[in-house]
Amino acid sequence: MDTLVSINVYAAKPANEPAIRRAMTAAFAEMSRLDSLFSAYRADSEVAKLNQATAAGVAITSDMDSVLQMAQWAAQISNGAFDVTVAPILQLWGFGTDSLGVPAPEKIAARMARVNYENLVIVHDLVNQKNSVTFRQPEMAIDLGGVAKGYVVDRGLAMLRQAGISDAMITAGGDLRTITSPLTVGRRYIWIQHPRPLNPARAFEPDGAANSFFGRFKLEGDAAVSTSGDYERFFINDNKRYHHIIDPHTGYPADRTISATVIAGTSVQADALATTLFVLGPQRGIALADSLPAVEAVMIYRNGDELKWEATKTLREKLEVFNQ
Ligand code: AMP
Ligand code: MG
Repeated sequence: MDTLVSINVYAAKPANEPAIRRAMTAAFAEMSRLDSLFSAYRADSEVAKLNQATAAGVAITSDMDSVLQMAQWAAQISNGAFDVTVAPILQLWGFGTDSLGVPAPEKIAARMARVNYENLVIVHDLVNQKNSVTFRQPEMAIDLGGVAKGYVVDRGLAMLRQAGISDAMITAGGDLRTITSPLTVGRRYIWIQHPRPLNPARAFEPDGAANSFFGRFKLEGDAAVSTSGDYERFFINDNKRYHHIIDPHTGYPADRTISATVIAGTSVQADALATTLFVLGPQRGIALADSLPAVEAVMIYRNGDELKWEATKTLREKLEVFNQ
């Protein structure tokens, strides 16, 4: 997944340390197995095989099915702002490869016809318990970078839970999920990274670790939180920032948002929604989050030279913003 994955487990003493270590090893093994399915960087991943498939009805694993279900849900509720079939455009931009750069507009235009989540069909054969995928257009491809990490975190956490662990946190880049026992309840905060000062006069102090956070909020209990930001993978060309989250309707990086943080019931949902909201922008994004049960969000965006933020009703009350 090209990111750092960490597991923290909390247990009261006397704790069964060998058992905890075994559970963590098993969780890492499961996450690594899933990485080999979803990776865009491995030639032998399930994604790579799907993308090379020429025939209709290619069989998929149940993990792939779960991730694609979530992806298609996010696509539907956002009218395609989230769209895993944006892969052919992503490949042109070259994020995660050596050939990073602004593609020729004609090249983007030529590939846009391949992008449309409605042409990605998942078929569930309930009789034979087999699932398959069909692309309804030639040369389509998928990229699961916006949703797979969340799924992997969910599965890792499920492994810990199965082993009897009741207090833990798994993070994978911008995605995290916690389970909470009385040991930590009400004691975890999510600190939101400050994307960057827009006005150079307000640049961070050299030793300003504390002011490099935008704000924080307290987690009440078990939660999944994901952030999508334009500062994760980007390059600057002619003073313009180009980053890895593409608006599938234009083929260019989505420019309405700087960062989107989403709280949801599962990490796969939080992950998909963070990317979705990022593309939608603060107005439509927060409205969408407000319309979904048990989903909260805060989005940071630019208004001229100013950094602004917008949050769902419940989160607005919990959020402490100390460095806008
Ligand atoms: P995240 O870090 O979860 O916001 O995901 C960003 C990643 O999602 C990118 O690196 C791409 O792999 C992928 N991606 C980019 N744009 C989109 C989009 N509009 N819909 C779905 N996935 C996307
Ligand atoms: Mg995401």
